[in-house]
Amino acid sequence: MEKVVIIGTGCAGLTAALYTARANLAPLVFAGAMPGGLLTTTSIVENFPGFPEGIDGYELMTRLQKQAERFGARVQFGTVEAVDVKSQPFKLTVDGEPLEAETIIIASGAGHRHLGLESEDKLERKGVTYCATCDGAFPMFRNQPLVVVGGGDSACEEATYLTRFASVVYLVHRRDSLRASKIMAERTLAHAKIKPVWDSVVTEVLDVKQDKVTGVRLKNLKTEKESTLDCAGVFVAIGHLPNTQLFKGVIDMDENGYIIPKRGSETNVPGVFVAGDCSDHVYRQAITAAGMGCAAAIDAERYLAARNQ
Ligand code: NAP
Repeated sequence: MEKVVIIGTGCAGLTAALYTARANLAPLVFAGAMPGGLLTTTSIVENFPGFPEGIDGYELMTRLQKQAERFGARVQFGTVEAVDVKSQPFKLTVDGEPLEAETIIIASGAGHRHLGLESEDKLERKGVTYCATCDGAFPMFRNQPLVVVGGGDSACEEATYLTRFASVVYLVHRRDSLRASKIMAERTLAHAKIKPVWDSVVTEVLDVKQDKVTGVRLKNLKTEKESTLDCAGVFVAIGHLPNTQLFKGVIDMDENGYIIPKRGSETNVPGVFVAGDCSDHVYRQAITAAGMGCAAAIDAERYLAARNQ
């Protein structure tokens, strides 16, 4: 039986792995659908303390995994498909295989929010994407007009990154001011290749018939006017949804699916702890996720110590 199973290998999961490994608990860590978490899809991370020049998101996560493994964490590819936490030991199913654990740290992170348009779904990977760093360099986007949707830090980051490839980047936002941090917003709006399209939403991605992105249909929310904008790609950066479906009805969560800790990282089930973006819709930073991972590891360690006295 495992002492600690950690679900997720983002900043929260790997920091929890590092701390529980150093406590000699040999955590078993499952990477799930996105090994390394959302940070691996970012370009340069400029606000993680200790990296004055910034650090590539993928590199940061690779280093964090190595650090955890050095102390005995076992990081595996694998998706946790089911959990039963009604009684100890907890039972999990990972890629069809059963597993038992004394504690679980949920650090399953969050995924990209979609616009919710049928045309968006149909043209996903055919010009609609949720990650500029992953897909921006594709030949189909080179020297073409591109659309980024959103007004937060992610949208600014995507738009700025895409200026390397695009002829022009239209930043389509539903209001007339950005939600992004001041420094990111100023940098984005000052860029010669980025053109904001204010007060507007995408109502359709064109063109499903051609099976590729050729443009977007827009609606100005103030004037109600509709228009179209030619583009070769649509990069959706409108926030995230927590990856917590697995725990619905078992672990307390709010109406948006964010897990609500009871005290520190403790959930409503003793022995199940939570950390990172799957329980945080407020801060959502790499460093706060890492801090929450550390807290969950310490809480799990103390829980095990008390239980096995
Ligand atoms: P966010 O801050 O929640 O911003 C989401 C944006 O999408 C908002 O501008 C929102 O509009 C818009 N939006 C939401 N739903 C929409 C819809 N259905 N249609 C059109 N627009 C919609 O998300 P984020 O930018 O992904 O950032 C998440 C967190 O990560 C933040 O805390 C951010 O600071 C952090 N982050 C930091 C960095 C960095 O520091 N390098 C980089 C990326 C992310 P409204 O503004 O009108 O609500």
